[in-house]
Amino acid sequence: MITPDMATIPRTIPTVLIIGGGFGGVRAASQLSRHSDFDITLISNLSTFAYYPQFYHSATGGSRSESALPLTDVLDGTRVKLIKDVIVAIDPQAHTVTSIDGVTSYHYDELVMALGAVTNYFGIAGLKEFSYGIKSIEDAEEFKLHIHSQLMSEHKPDLNYVVVGGGPTGVELAASLGAYLNRTMAQHNIGGRDYQIELVEAAPRLLPRSSEAVSARVQRKLESLGVKVITGAQVKAETAAALELEGQSIATRTVVWTAGTSVNPFYYANGTHFQLAKGGRVMVSSHLEAGDHVYVIGDNASTPYSGLAQTAVRDADYVAGDIVRSRSGRDRPAYRPVAPVSVFPVGEYWAVAEWRGYHVYGFIGYILRRLADLAGYADIERWSQAVRVWLQDSRQENECTICASAALGAEEASVQ
Ligand SMILES: Cc1cc2nc3c(=O)[nH]c(=O)nc-3n(C[C@H](O)[C@H](O)[C@H](O)COP(=O)(O)OP(=O)(O)OC[C@H]3O[C@@H](n4cnc5c(N)ncnc54)[C@H](O)[C@@H]3O)c2cc1C
Repeated sequence: MITPDMATIPRTIPTVLIIGGGFGGVRAASQLSRHSDFDITLISNLSTFAYYPQFYHSATGGSRSESALPLTDVLDGTRVKLIKDVIVAIDPQAHTVTSIDGVTSYHYDELVMALGAVTNYFGIAGLKEFSYGIKSIEDAEEFKLHIHSQLMSEHKPDLNYVVVGGGPTGVELAASLGAYLNRTMAQHNIGGRDYQIELVEAAPRLLPRSSEAVSARVQRKLESLGVKVITGAQVKAETAAALELEGQSIATRTVVWTAGTSVNPFYYANGTHFQLAKGGRVMVSSHLEAGDHVYVIGDNASTPYSGLAQTAVRDADYVAGDIVRSRSGRDRPAYRPVAPVSVFPVGEYWAVAEWRGYHVYGFIGYILRRLADLAGYADIERWSQAVRVWLQDSRQENECTICASAALGAEEASVQ
């Protein structure tokens, strides 16, 4: 944080300010922290790092600790200063960004913006009000609690669960839901609950960004798990009791919306300083700069593979290197996008891995996914810490069905 007086004190080493404590921000901070010639500060509005790839698991029995990692743990052992704040404005001339309090401003010599995307409801009536989300750990836990309370309820429980969005997140969630419901019912000796899980996708097939062969194989796998797949169906509206699709209505009080994200609203609010591409993402140069000494990385950058953690990590590595090179007067090669490997689970011990037309399914896919998770944790924290979190995430399913029931008990007690 700087005050106007502090702004006049000469700085000896450049200040790199990083906004956003997600994949891009944390990775950029820890990479730069290896160089002693920078003063590095990371500002994030949350005190936890969201490991999104495990959110589906936290929402269906896994624990919070595999998905929400304290930033102090993640950055332990680095030279990064951590500040919890919400940044709402930028002044590129003054080289400052401003906090939501309207008073505090932070100076930068180099700025890395890694704010992540936000949920997009496309203005569809009722969705924001009635649907569940999976874009924050609180969303995931709220959904888990709701499902649990419906299963336990004696009074007209909702047993019709609809996941909207046939991308990897929707597929992962729909596929793991049945196993969670069965486990929960077995643990509580509940029989005879005839639930239904539906997965709705607007495109003609699931996983529109994957090959047709992968889409078809995943659809078969989902159907074998009891998930009803509805493709080519656009959501028109949601009410408290139904999801309205074009030409049909599904009676449900449980809809999870995974079907859309949009650029962080920061860029609209500061639109005079950023140019937005057609899809809404921020235009960046071949060095991922959106202006002088202002880098935009991860989900908001208009690059070929943005929208994936792997891309955010790659962007961060590039930008950390670019800052080091430009500050030391070395040549600066252009950013080169790299096609990501896609590995996502479809039920227990089954996953699909896809890369440049090659695919692997089943248990081997599951092993690859587990290894990808280990690599994912290691991308953002020390290996020892990454291995610890990775090992614990598989042990917690049963424990956390019990967590849900304890939390539900507490909630019911507080209502009475
Ligand atoms: C449920 C789910 C599952 C996913 N699964 C996968 C997967 O399996 N594989 C994969 O490659 N990708 C996956 N993704 C996508 C991946 O998580 C994102 O692409 C990645 O997180 C983008 O990194 P980022 O740094 O751009 O943003 P984020 O990781 O979202 O980080 C943004 C950070 O900025 C903070 N922030 C936002 N606004 C402000 C502000 N104004 N001031 C201060 N801080 C702010 C946020 O709190 C957050 O900490 C998944 C996404 C979701 C939602």
